[in-house]
Amino acid sequence: MTDRDDLILPGDVLASSEEYLAGEGTYEEGGHVRAACLGQKVVDEVDRVVSIAPRGVPPRRIMVGDVVVGLVTVLKNQLANLRISAIEGVSRPYLPESLGTIHISNVEDHFITDLGRYIRPGDMVRARVLQAEPTIQLTTRGDDMGVVKGRCGYCNGDLALRDEELRCPNCQVTWQKKVSRLYGNTNLLEDR
Ligand SMILES: [Zn+2]
Repeated sequence: MTDRDDLILPGDVLASSEEYLAGEGTYEEGGHVRAACLGQKVVDEVDRVVSIAPRGVPPRRIMVGDVVVGLVTVLKNQLANLRISAIEGVSRPYLPESLGTIHISNVEDHFITDLGRYIRPGDMVRARVLQAEPTIQLTTRGDDMGVVKGRCGYCNGDLALRDEELRCPNCQVTWQKKVSRLYGNTNLLEDR
């Protein structure tokens, strides 16, 4: 977590631009990522982005009942990991690096056995927070929840929703997933 005393001034060097991308509140100059405003340094080690959280804007904690959107990063037999990138209804959320987990029993209202048929790495998923501490547990039960942007497992292309099926325009392959009724909702995806 960030330290209150650890105040960054505009122009301060935050990182080498060879190692990190310049995120919000920063700019790149002379091989360095520098602060563009007063605030605290936030490093996203997953995406390798360094940014500045404006002073006085504490990170919003994820709470039970929140609806979040995130990218599926890891799929296992019984669970999928999601890198949470937005909390719905929270404008300009300043999120710490947040990982959530969807257990196979929380994907659908009914019992399922093959998690990989419902969500896969690369999918953007809308989910509700069941538990916030000590780990974030999510559910995609309900019509509005599930994949809002799907990725083809063969070519990584974006899947298009047609007749309640997700189809890859490149491979002409159909993917069965846990599709949200809000599939393709651009507001959700832009908000991250
Ligand atoms: Zn494809």
